[in-house]
Amino acid sequence: MGQIVVLDQNMINMIAAGEVIERPASVVKELMENSIDAGATKITVSIEDGGRKLISVADNGCGMDAKDLARAFESHTTSKIKTSSDLHGISTLGFRGEALASIASVAQVKGTSRTKGQDGANCLEIDCGSKGAVSPASADYGTTIQVRDIFYKLPARRKFLRTANTEMGHISEQFTRIALANNSLDLTLIRNGRELYRLPNTDNLHRRIVELFPMSSSTISENLIETESDEKGLRILALIGKPNISRTNTKFQYVFLNGRFIRDKFISHAIKEAYRGLLEPNRFPVVFLFIQMPYEDYDVNVHPTKSEVRFYNANLVHSQILGCLREKLLGTDLQPHAKLPTATHSPASRGGPAPGHRSQAITDAMAEFFKKHRPVQTQQQLSYKSKQHLVALHPSTGQIPESHTGQPAPEIAPEQKKILQIHDSFIVVQTDDGFVIIDQHALHERIIYEDLCRRILHRTPNGGKSKLESQKLLIPESFEVTPSGADALKTNAELLEKLGIEIVPFGPKTMAVQAFPTLLVKADPLDFVQDLIDLLDHKDTNLDGERLLDEVLNMAACKAAIKAGQRLTMSEIEQLLLDKENAESASRCPHGRPTTIKFSISDLEKQFKRT
Ligand code: ADP
Ligand code: MG
Repeated sequence: MGQIVVLDQNMINMIAAGEVIERPASVVKELMENSIDAGATKITVSIEDGGRKLISVADNGCGMDAKDLARAFESHTTSKIKTSSDLHGISTLGFRGEALASIASVAQVKGTSRTKGQDGANCLEIDCGSKGAVSPASADYGTTIQVRDIFYKLPARRKFLRTANTEMGHISEQFTRIALANNSLDLTLIRNGRELYRLPNTDNLHRRIVELFPMSSSTISENLIETESDEKGLRILALIGKPNISRTNTKFQYVFLNGRFIRDKFISHAIKEAYRGLLEPNRFPVVFLFIQMPYEDYDVNVHPTKSEVRFYNANLVHSQILGCLREKLLGTDLQPHAKLPTATHSPASRGGPAPGHRSQAITDAMAEFFKKHRPVQTQQQLSYKSKQHLVALHPSTGQIPESHTGQPAPEIAPEQKKILQIHDSFIVVQTDDGFVIIDQHALHERIIYEDLCRRILHRTPNGGKSKLESQKLLIPESFEVTPSGADALKTNAELLEKLGIEIVPFGPKTMAVQAFPTLLVKADPLDFVQDLIDLLDHKDTNLDGERLLDEVLNMAACKAAIKAGQRLTMSEIEQLLLDKENAESASRCPHGRPTTIKFSISDLEKQFKRT
């Protein structure tokens, strides 16, 4: 007796669902794509309980008549391709004819639809594959698909669903991708009865981006540069972020091919290459890239969710994108609008001149630095002015220059100090047998990192765990947060507590930073929290508590440290050198880069052929 049986259709659909329908967000993606393929101009997505209870997608597209409605939920039924030759030029988002069947095999589904030619609508219910009859219903033109209780007969899969907030985060992400690629559509996302996004159709892509990313809207819109190219059958439109709005991960890289969101390693590589030398190694640019090319030039039939494609000429795609982005970046003045430290917190504890002065000083120093350190190509054209300054001694903490006004400070004789700051970035110090060059940012980063570790790991006298000392902000700083971001903050409440960061809910999508660690006074609270959320939300799930804390402390140290391009006073330099003495491992920054390079006099003598 043979062992092999033919699976029944519902089993086949459930297996297919395992590939296509990973979680509620996949349902949202498939249904919205169907609406777009149906020519809808308006789509409303409604979600309850992160999609576990209800996912509803309503459109004003072409609709289906009674016969099509009944067919649509069977497997391998599609109106989008007819013959094998159609597979070579797919212009629709769907074509596999299995999404509706898959969804209907794992949930309770109701489809209601009406075409322009019909007087009334029809509806159909399917409960985990068992289909009812088509019956008349009352509804406007278009289609509404409601999906309830996803995976309710599949406890193993239901168990894998995360919290409502996390699932909602995935849904928002799918919605965002579709909204970016389809700015001419009127789109709404409703969560538990409340509008999360209401996006009117627009021909202005900038506007859509700003509406989708309110959290960082001002920063994003000010820092996106637009570029286009149309060569060799490849049209590219890109809105690319200046280096100063880079992120800690690639989440803000949106690539679309003929309106389809894709992930592609050639394209990612081209983006990375375009920014070469403009970003630190662990930072990723914000990029919105829209590519149009003939449907025949690539294959979408390589991945069940169609998020990967195969280009027939991947090299061409790579070089066109790289060229387009790189040229624009190099031809643009990338000098950032210096983000001034907010003076709202703890002004009372500060001496020195008015914050405006200080801000100006920092702006000037940064401007000076970026003028000199204009990256790549342009750098060679600039000859460094040999302007090395030794600045005045005055009491300081080694923190940001409190009373530094940007005016050239009285010089002190080099022989007196034998310390020199060059290019506002490196410190040269004479030693007994030669000299050392110190990377001021890397060293300060190391020092702060060690300080943070000491304070956090140290136990209080009563045996309790330590936390960083923090101070209340005079005015809480509010920020918009995505559901998954809020979730990440909630799950990591203990970590936040340790760091001395207090974040409270402030409105439906808003939270506010109320207290911030004193030690990180130089970091901008919102900027810090934003990156922290990025990190927590996308951390490798294998990261244990200790490693996560370490990553956070690394990030904190980097943000709070003196930057390259920041002019220091002599006393600040001295403080830095003193702290260096006390640091455990001052020779490397927390990322493992050296902080100090030594030169011996005997080496120099050899170089100059004195010996
Ligand atoms: P595919 O999109 O790959 O064709 P689906 O299972 O997603 O497969 O959908 C099956 C068919 O149902 C589609 O080809 C289309 O004809 C019809 N359909 C699905 N959703 C809609 C909709 N919102 N409006 C009109 N027709 C739809
Ligand atoms: Mg489809």
